[in-house]
Parts: sequence; C-alpha cells; structure tokens
Amino acid sequence: MIKAVLFDMDGVLYDSMPFHICAWSEISAKHHLDYVPEDFYLLEGCTGEYTINLLYQRTYGRNATAEEIKILYREKANLFTKYNDGNPMHGVADVLKQVKDLGTQTLVVTGSGQKSLIDKLETDFPGHFKREKMVTAFDVKRGKPDPEPYLMGLVKAGVSAGEAIVVENAPMGVQSARAADIFTIAVNTGPLPDQVLRDAGANLLFPDMPSLAKSFQEIIKAR
Ligand code: MG
Repeated sequence: MIKAVLFDMDGVLYDSMPFHICAWSEISAKHHLDYVPEDFYLLEGCTGEYTINLLYQRTYGRNATAEEIKILYREKANLFTKYNDGNPMHGVADVLKQVKDLGTQTLVVTGSGQKSLIDKLETDFPGHFKREKMVTAFDVKRGKPDPEPYLMGLVKAGVSAGEAIVVENAPMGVQSARAADIFTIAVNTGPLPDQVLRDAGANLLFPDMPSLAKSFQEIIKAR
C-alpha cells in the first residue's frame, strides 16, 4: 500500500532545469572554471557546495574555500532567479491530482537551496505541499546522491521505504532514492540518455509527465 509519493522539484515539478544550466554555465565561465553544460545535468540534485568543489578540483586541484562557495552559489542563485520563468512541468498537475484522489500524501525532496522556487511550492501547487513536509538543501548535510534526503523524506512522511514512491528526473536523485530502498520512477525531462537513469537504478522510466500520468493508476495498483 503506497502512503506517500516523494517528488523531486527541478525537472519534475518545475520546468526549471534549462535556467539552472544557463546560470551554472555563466557563473563557471565567469570564474574560469573547467565545465561543459552537461555537467550540470549529471550533477543535478547535488548540493551547490558539492558542485562547486567538483569544478574547483577539476580546474585547480583543490576544494573551493567557504568564501568562494558562498560567493559562487549566491551569484548562481541570483542569475537563476533572474532567468527562471517559474513554469510548472507540463503534465505534473494531472499526476498530483491522481495522487490526491487516492488520498496519498505528497512531499518534496530537493537538493535545491533556491528560495525563489521553494517558497512558491505551496502557492503554485495548493493543497499538495507543506513546508514542514519538504526536504531541501537547508535540511540535509550530505545531499543527493547520498540516501540522506530521501530517508529524511520518509521520516517526515511517517512511512517506511516500502510504502513510498519517488518521482525523479536526475541520475544523482535516482541513486539517492534507490540507496534509501524506495521504488523510483524516473521521468527523463532533460537531454541525458535514458540509459544514464537506468544505470542509476530507476525502477521505471517515462519520457515525460503526461506519459507517467497515463500509467500512474496502474503503477499504484501494482505496488
Ligand atoms: Mg530534478
């Protein structure tokens, strides 16, 4: 019996990934860091600190200082807020309605610390998400791909791993959820090959939210 569905935020609830990629790429170029845009799809879900340290290690062979992390993440967050149009992912409203009609609770588990989106969740998806039932970058120490965020999501939902389902779009997020032993549906809303999400451990894979919406009832019944 499924009692909770744990949703990732970027690339699942919001069509926000292209704006994250623009912001990360622009800031990385400005600070002369060695990157390609695909890095940020592969690293999606990790904390900003993890991403910045990885780029510093690759470019300078050392971690960023606390000050460098603070400056870069602030600049990236500001750019993202400037670019982001705040549009929900096409088809997500249908999935959320189906979850609600089943009487199943919905939670957000995101690696994001972007207040510009987190603060909008309750108003953009009324009746679905509450701040006390969210796990964000502000709540965790290690972040995805560590199981910590999804384990915390289970605690906040008050359910066991077997009573939950995760909806994710990113390989690191899928790894995190599978490491927490939760059945994980990947929705490939970005440019990465499907195989990356399969290799991360996704139990099911859909190309977009409307496809998931069509099969959602069957998935829940089968669990
Ligand atoms: Mg995501």
